[in-house]
This record gives sequence, structure tokens and C-alpha cells, in this order.
Amino acid sequence: MRTYDITLTISEELVVWPDDKPVSITADSRISEGAIANVSRIKMGVHTGTHVDAPFHFIDGAPTVEHLDIDLLTGRAYVLHLPDDVDLITKAHIENSTIPPRTKRVLFRTRNSHRWVDGSREFDPNYVALDHEAAALLIQRGVKLVGVDYLGVAPFEDVIPTHVTLLEAGIVIVEGLNLSEVSQGRYTLYCLPLKIAGVDGAPARAILVGV
Ligand SMILES: [Zn+2]
Repeated sequence: MRTYDITLTISEELVVWPDDKPVSITADSRISEGAIANVSRIKMGVHTGTHVDAPFHFIDGAPTVEHLDIDLLTGRAYVLHLPDDVDLITKAHIENSTIPPRTKRVLFRTRNSHRWVDGSREFDPNYVALDHEAAALLIQRGVKLVGVDYLGVAPFEDVIPTHVTLLEAGIVIVEGLNLSEVSQGRYTLYCLPLKIAGVDGAPARAILVGV
């Protein structure tokens, strides 16, 4: 059984959403400067790197990230590998896919994953994402968690419909996965977001274990 770490490394170089501020990691104290211990501090948005979106992200008054169902975040998952020429994940991609019946968690590996290994540091507005009809079809098929390999589940020019469709249905969205090493197929997903009170998202450690 092989374990795949599909988490992006958080660093000051990590690409962030255009409206977001870069990650800042500073030293509160350093042994080399006479302190008794090394202690660091991090400042970043809750949608940094590999992270989950909570319903509150696009729906005021909806549940915040600490209330996400831990049972949805862990369990059997299917990784669907889409060819590099797919620009937008549509209903047809889901209909013609090999996603097995009763799959609750789907992770989409697209050409986005190349960006996590090719050293790109600039935000790519042409990332591959899902349109809202694809999102609706996944819900209809009983999917409860949707993972993508760039910073947004929805197209850059049209972020609301896909997010609202998924979040209104209580679907957990996982963004910023690095699926570059992972082949299409079944795995067990462990996605553990930080338990932060009252916020719309949280960075997560995500791994896949081969089954
Ligand atoms: Zn997000």
C-alpha cells in the first residue's frame, strides 16, 4: 500500500489567489540569537495551499469550517484523471467518466497538477475547474466531497455558481491538491483541515492511501 502526500507545502513562495496576501513566516525567537527555543509565526489566508471551503465561504449564515463532517473528509475516494487538453470540467466529462457508482469523494487530476511540479510561482487564471452543471451532476450522483488540483473549484471568471451549487448541497470542497504523482483509481482519502472557529475555510493535510 502506497501513501501519497497530495498536500502543497506552505511557504512564502506558494502561489496565492490574486486578492490574497502572500504567506508570511517570521521568527518570534531564535536559539542562534540567544533564545531558549526556535519559535515561528505564520500569517496567511485560510484559503492558502491545500485547503477546504466551508459553506460559509459563499453563503452567509451557513456552517463554518469547524463544523464540517469529519466522516466526509475521510474515506474511499476516486481520482479521475482528465487529459491535459481539458480546459473546463463539464457535465459531459462526468457522464463519460469512469467514476464508479456510489462514489462519495471525487478528486480531479488535470493539467493543473503540472504547475505544482514545474516550479511555476505565478497565479494561473486559466486553471481547469468545474462548471456548475458538472457540480450539479456530481451532487445528483451522490458525491459528497469534490477535490481539485488548483486553488479554485470554479472557473476564475465565474466563481459563484459552482461554489454555491456545491456548498448549498453540503458538499465539502477541497482545493489546491497536488495530484501529479497519483494515477486514476480508488484510494482512501484522509483530509484533515485545521479546526478554526467561525471561518470559511482552513488549510488541510491531505493524503491518499492506495487500496
Ligand atoms: Zn477556497
